[in-house]
Amino acid sequence: MGVKALGMVSGGLDSTLATKILLDLGLEVEGIYFSTGFCVTEHTRNFKADDKPIRPNEALRLGADLGISVHIVDVSKDYLPVVTNPKYGYGANLNPCIDCRIFMFKRMKGLMDRFGAQFMYTGEVLGQRPMSQHREAMKTIERDSGLGGLVLRPLSAQVLDPTIPEVKGWVDRSKLLDIVGRSRKTQTRLAGEWKIENTPQPAGGCCYLTDPQYAARLRDIFDHKGKENLNQEDTLLLKAGRHFRVANHIKVIVGRNEKENNFLKYYEKGRHVFLIPDFPSAHVLAEIEGEAHGEELGLLASIAARYSDAPKGAPVGVHYRYGGEERVIEALPVEENRLERWRI
Ligand code: SF4
Repeated sequence: MGVKALGMVSGGLDSTLATKILLDLGLEVEGIYFSTGFCVTEHTRNFKADDKPIRPNEALRLGADLGISVHIVDVSKDYLPVVTNPKYGYGANLNPCIDCRIFMFKRMKGLMDRFGAQFMYTGEVLGQRPMSQHREAMKTIERDSGLGGLVLRPLSAQVLDPTIPEVKGWVDRSKLLDIVGRSRKTQTRLAGEWKIENTPQPAGGCCYLTDPQYAARLRDIFDHKGKENLNQEDTLLLKAGRHFRVANHIKVIVGRNEKENNFLKYYEKGRHVFLIPDFPSAHVLAEIEGEAHGEELGLLASIAARYSDAPKGAPVGVHYRYGGEERVIEALPVEENRLERWRI
């Protein structure tokens, strides 16, 4: 039986090249794509404009292009504590890259047994990303995941310590690469030579946790709801709509288009809903901690009025519902300067 490698693949250019190198060396290869719930392309695929083509999951596309099986593993629930309490802290935003890699490598360890793989590989490049791809971080990640020596990084292997697959001769080290740094020149040249097409943006642009606006919204939840109370629904809702923190105990989400309005409809349960059925308008949800007072509901209705096509200058009937209660609140659109103060 031949040697089998299990790849942690995103479907970006680097993991595509790493996979191609191992296939060309005659190894049996399968891929794993971890779905953390924070992938930008997964979300934007669902919210794409109707006239734009649907992009496939990039890791599946890699599998189809290179002729290997790729398995999608949903880790979104177990991943939340990595985001809320990372041992090694955050990068520039709320990206816990070192803990994220440790979490995924540990999962890979279990999957290697299941898939009968002797080692794992990634498309990582030494020095490409500031938090998790420098030498010390790579060593920490390997040590904490219990995978010392069993992680091959074909794109940078020649500038890293030899791994078990190289020492044992399962992989010819001389055929691996020595790429270092953020430049993508070598990868782009190889993609051309090897006729690799359709790869998306480099990894990293694909993670909401590196996005400053998403991070601000997530931080707002940490501050007002508490890290320990973060749930998957919160992380999903942070990706859609305009968000406003109007008071310590009140947050508002306003749909920006029909797709987001429809999306927000699925999350009405437990939230206060404001709609203007007589005019094109946004779907507005409010999360209120504790009891909602009349004045607060009036303010929220005025936000709904602002995001509607109802004639300005006269009160508009905003339909409000929460639990079993339903009524109409007359409201004028809220002033822009107040909205901007609340925007997250
Ligand atoms: S950018 Fe996101 S997915 Fe990538 S290592 Fe960092 S936290 Fe993990």
